[in-house]
Amino acid sequence: MSRRNVAVLGATGSVGEATLAVARNHPDRLRVSVLAAQGTRPARLAELAREFRPDRVVVESDDTAAALRSELPNGTRLTCGGQALLNGVGTGDIDLVVTAIVGAAGLQPAAAALEAGADLALANKEAMVAAGPVLRRLAAASGASILPIDSEHAAIHQALRAGRPREVRRLVLTASGGPFLERDPATLEAATPAEATAHPTWDMGAKISVDSATLTNKGLELIEASYLFDVDGSRIDILIHPQSLVHSIVEFRCGNGVAQISANDMRYPIQYALSYPERWARPADERSVDLSDLLLQTSKLEFRRVDPALFPAPSLARDALARGGGAPAVMNAANEIAVDAFLGGRTPFTAIVPVVADVLERHARQSNGGEPQSITEALAWDSWGRHQARELLAASGG
Ligand code: NAD
Ligand code: MG
Repeated sequence: MSRRNVAVLGATGSVGEATLAVARNHPDRLRVSVLAAQGTRPARLAELAREFRPDRVVVESDDTAAALRSELPNGTRLTCGGQALLNGVGTGDIDLVVTAIVGAAGLQPAAAALEAGADLALANKEAMVAAGPVLRRLAAASGASILPIDSEHAAIHQALRAGRPREVRRLVLTASGGPFLERDPATLEAATPAEATAHPTWDMGAKISVDSATLTNKGLELIEASYLFDVDGSRIDILIHPQSLVHSIVEFRCGNGVAQISANDMRYPIQYALSYPERWARPADERSVDLSDLLLQTSKLEFRRVDPALFPAPSLARDALARGGGAPAVMNAANEIAVDAFLGGRTPFTAIVPVVADVLERHARQSNGGEPQSITEALAWDSWGRHQARELLAASGG
């Protein structure tokens, strides 16, 4: 059996570590060739490099590179900077790139991987939101595949195998509802970053945890699903499902729906993407229980609609997707800036979504409706959205 050469971007993060756990369980099938990270946790990155002995480690800046150099094993090259990352994934000898970087910073590496013909296992939904149609065109041109890691999209990808694209009636994306689902809305103004990142069912990085608390994550996922599966936003529903066991559903035109169920453990969707079209043995540890036991432990599965008055972000995303013309890229960019301001203590939790809404309103007056035709054009809207959000935050003292 031949091993696939894998690059893991965002190796020290939550999805990166879960990806490496999958690689650790399947050394006969996966060879970790590149490890990339920002470099804020050099000791952990060095440890991973000594374990996996990749050809290359890529970090963002010279400073972190200096801290790492003497810690890497023989045979591992160290490079740094954005161009080094693009070179690292675009060499042609990488078979599969796992993008687990946070934010639109992952867009150019994703494009470089697809251009070089490497399959993309995509956790970095912000790249898809900012330039989904462009990424799909790059994949089609080189013959590469885009395989979703986001659990809802991995669920839909699996369910779609039960029918043909033209037989799909609707998609149902499930959402945990995040940490503030039951909280008195009057107290949200005072919500702290620690509260907003304490997710009830998933253990994730800070940015996506805040996105789950505002339900912006589900809005971004709606756009991601529309671009990935070529299904109009008007045919995608969102249901709150606090147990996070039914990861999403495809309803076919005959009225039969196919749902995907698994433990809320990112190793399952990651391994699905890395093994597709095969299915490999699940992890053998105490967290892996039989499905019937999992359902018995949970006993009841609940579903309800999102209250748009409390959580307006999914509707904003639906409108941005329908309007197009760079609106999804702008929405994502404004959200990144607003979430960063919240995490840095510069703006309250309740300001995040209104800032995004205001930037989208400015965009509606500005855009001529033309879709970004290239990564460069998508990045131009991304910069514009960031600038507008910073301006609004500065005006309100954030
Ligand atoms: P995280 O904050 O835990 O990790 C982010 C990783 O990316 C770190 O290794 C960091 O060093 C690296 N990174 C950040 N900026 C970088 C840059 N400019 N260049 C190189 N590396 C950079 O984040 P996470 O929770 O693992 O999320 C990663 C992505 O996966 C996000 O897009 C998120 O929306 C998506 N996602 C995460 C989960 C989850 O369970 N955590 C689930 C679905 C989707
Ligand atoms: Mg998800």
